[in-house]
Amino acid sequence: MNNGKNDVSEVLDAVIVGAGFSGLYMLIRLRELGLKCAVIEKGGDVGGTWYWNRYPGARCDIDSVDYCYSFSPKLLKEWRWTERFATQPEILRYLEFVAKTFDLKRDIRFSSTVLSAEFDENADTWLVSTSYGERIEAKYLVMAVGNLSEPKRPDIQGADQFIGNELHTSKWPKDGVDFTGCEVGIIGTGSSGIQAIPLIANQAKHLYVFQRTPNYSMPARNAPLEPNYIEEVLADFEKRRETSRRSDAGTPFPPSNKATFEVSDEERSAMFEAGWKRGGINSLSYAFNDFFTDEIANQEAQNFARKKIQEIVHDPITAKSLSPIHHIGTKRTCVDTNYFETYNRENVTLVDLRSDPIQEITPHGVTTKSRNIKLDSLVYAVGFDAVTGALNAINIVGRGGQRLRDAWNDGPATYLGLMVSGFPNMFLVTGPGSPGVLSNMVVSIEQHIDWIAGAIEHLNSRSFTRIEASSDAQDQWVAHVNELAEGTLYPQATSWYLGSNITGKARVFMPYVNGCGNYRSECEAVVRDGYRGFQLTTGSFIQQREDA
Ligand SMILES: Cc1cc2nc3c(=O)[nH]c(=O)nc-3n(C[C@H](O)[C@H](O)[C@H](O)COP(=O)(O)OP(=O)(O)OC[C@H]3O[C@@H](n4cnc5c(N)ncnc54)[C@H](O)[C@@H]3O)c2cc1C
Repeated sequence: MNNGKNDVSEVLDAVIVGAGFSGLYMLIRLRELGLKCAVIEKGGDVGGTWYWNRYPGARCDIDSVDYCYSFSPKLLKEWRWTERFATQPEILRYLEFVAKTFDLKRDIRFSSTVLSAEFDENADTWLVSTSYGERIEAKYLVMAVGNLSEPKRPDIQGADQFIGNELHTSKWPKDGVDFTGCEVGIIGTGSSGIQAIPLIANQAKHLYVFQRTPNYSMPARNAPLEPNYIEEVLADFEKRRETSRRSDAGTPFPPSNKATFEVSDEERSAMFEAGWKRGGINSLSYAFNDFFTDEIANQEAQNFARKKIQEIVHDPITAKSLSPIHHIGTKRTCVDTNYFETYNRENVTLVDLRSDPIQEITPHGVTTKSRNIKLDSLVYAVGFDAVTGALNAINIVGRGGQRLRDAWNDGPATYLGLMVSGFPNMFLVTGPGSPGVLSNMVVSIEQHIDWIAGAIEHLNSRSFTRIEASSDAQDQWVAHVNELAEGTLYPQATSWYLGSNITGKARVFMPYVNGCGNYRSECEAVVRDGYRGFQLTTGSFIQQREDA
């Protein structure tokens, strides 16, 4: 049955776009509801982030035992992580294991890109077109497209001229790259660059690091996981996970109840030292509760981090160039193994682009204001069009012919980060306006998928054909998210959280900053109040059909 649309190739209950952590779990939940669905995935296999980002050093920066699903006792029983922070191959193996355990691949179409999705107001369905030529009609559309999945294009003059080996951390070749004997350049010192640089430096003849903005990075203190420790974690896993669900960052570690200046200078320094020794993304931010809100308090943590860089890096000029000046934590804090130590190597040169900017990429290397650098390989670690990039890459047309791209021209607007007014039956996973990128994303993903599955179950069991966020509820949510952000230091940084890394992108602080726990409570309250702020209706087409 295709409702008279001859070009429809298939009719399903739901289309899920993306086969990363989000898409895989969504497929499991929708199958449980008895829905007929398909996942459309651009990549050649499952994994999302962990399929694409195969650069040397790629690993998670949330403890592996927390950066995983919690919904399945079988997965918990049968999977064992080997390191505190798992490598990309291990996380990819985990997602392969999930796909196999639940026999997911039979409903996933790989190497196919969703190009457009148009809402049919008469039928209350989406018409989804793919690069494979499919035209799928589905009642629900779930955008599990990822927050960090649309790579930023390098906007440097001459970028297309380079005739050496051009590489992008987010599209790394499956078979790896051998840099032995090569002169290598890397542009970008965000999370990916900071993870890759020490390993590339180990192999390359010489590595030139082109740095525009220095970033704070905390030592990972990565180590193999002792079997006894894993068993201890698993024995109490549900409690640990529930703590994460109700926490700010989606992790099981309690936040500090102390303010920075409540303690003596010695005590403060000892607490920062303890965090630095413990390692991980929250090494310093967990020490005090005013880290993200008080400029002077934040300065204390900044001073500590800069002092560490100066202690590690031997050359004082390089150390100064590597020392960030923004409020710590307001751009994604990185986690590294031997990043700053790498600059003590003879074969590594930092090129500080603030004093020596790139003039152009040439066929044989990079020309800066002061010199020509010959390169065999050039690595771009320039990040993503974050949060909205993958959504805006699709031609999404909602009610009244409105395009999502146009609706979001001045910045993204959503209700709960889950739905957009004017785009009924389309769900976002960790969309703008949710804690997503500020959290352990697997915890946030599970919460969103469960919420979406609950909403779909609610609609189907009551024969509603349409759910849509009201524009009032959306406006109030956007105002709420902005107000929360204004109470912190976050909006002061030029970060990808704000869209500042993309030329022409509206500058709007996208994530919800009040923590996973508070956000979860807000989502739960909306459901308890009968899906407050959503309009649930039975569409005219269905009504007409039933009346006939
Ligand atoms: C290098 C790196 C390290 C990270 N480390 C951490 C970490 O330690 N902790 C943490 O919490 N988060 C981390 N993240 C964030 C990470 O993206 C999330 O944790 C998580 O993997 C997101 O899962 P997802 O399924 O929502 O999105 P993704 O994994 O990004 O998957 C989305 C999928 O959708 C596909 N897709 C997009 N558009 C289309 C389209 N039009 N048609 C078809 N398919 C499409 C993409 O190809 C992709 O496979 C990291 C991100 C990166 C890039």
